[in-house]
Amino acid sequence: LAKARGKNNFQFFTSELAERAARHFALEGDLRQAVARQELVLHYQPRFRLSDGAMCGMEALLRWQHPTRGLIPPGEFIDLAEESGLIVQLGHWVMGEACHQIRLWREAGLEPPRCAINLSARQFGNEGLINEVQAALSETVLEAQALEVEITESLLMSDPDRAQQVLLRLHTLGMAIAIDDFGTGYSSLAYLKRFPAQTLKIDRSFIQGLPDDRDDAAITQAVIAMAHSLEMRVVAEGVETPEQLAFLKAHGCDEVQGYLLGRPMTAEKLAPLLPREALALGTDLPAV
Ligand code: C2E
Ligand code: MG
Ligand code: MG
Ligand code: MG
Repeated sequence: LAKARGKNNFQFFTSELAERAARHFALEGDLRQAVARQELVLHYQPRFRLSDGAMCGMEALLRWQHPTRGLIPPGEFIDLAEESGLIVQLGHWVMGEACHQIRLWREAGLEPPRCAINLSARQFGNEGLINEVQAALSETVLEAQALEVEITESLLMSDPDRAQQVLLRLHTLGMAIAIDDFGTGYSSLAYLKRFPAQTLKIDRSFIQGLPDDRDDAAITQAVIAMAHSLEMRVVAEGVETPEQLAFLKAHGCDEVQGYLLGRPMTAEKLAPLLPREALALGTDLPAV
């Protein structure tokens, strides 16, 4: 009996594996066409400064509007895109689209704060990255200061020398650099100092337990102190409750991002939150 069942299990297992592989390939095939079919969308999540409550940044987050499966979050296709190399094409689209959107907002008389873009491993290893960034900026007549790049701590630590080199070049262009998902990658103070990053984003997993979980509270306080001693700004990701917000404010966190303050949303929905372009009063006014 055991043997028979074992055999059945084996068959079940292989057919499930085959099915999963088939789904995987189908999705990869679909993803290959997603850019051309204009199925990709960026949502933007606002980031706020705790000292005065101003919106001080935003993060572009990729979504895939699949024709039959609906809106797919990046967690379900970024790895696939990485494995297949498609991420280079997707990343190129993200960069171009974000720049294009900033240009549209500005033309509508708005002053969007800096927009952060996530980079994954292959994009980061791609020799063409710097040229791509420069091309996207010049096509939309934007200065590099309009953008920030987010690199996860684990990606940084997987090849620190390469990371340092690429980040320095992006920083030299004028882009801001943030270390994403901080706290999950085991880096040391000594290492962090090597990178030209101005911002640390504390991973959501530590924010979740605030304020009651003692470990999360201790880690969050330590990260804030450490970042400040390195003269870096700290952003808390995934802030969902007023209690978390109060804890972060009381402990000197600089900026916050999370569902409590604003979910990722379409460019259209974000527009009313953006500051209007300041009127050029004074020096530019013609004399009367
Ligand atoms: P991330 O860069 O750490 O982005 C933050 C994630 O946390 C986003 O998930 C965001 O929607 C989510 N989030 C924000 N506030 C809250 C909150 O209060 N509660 C909860 N539960 N979640 C919150 P999303 O959009 O699903 O993106 C997941 C990851 O996919 C990102 O993590 C990033 O690593 C990656 N990703 C997204 N867009 C891109 C992209 O354009 N390129 C690359 N390479 N990776 C991307
Ligand atoms: Mg990010
Ligand atoms: Mg993150
Ligand atoms: Mg993440």
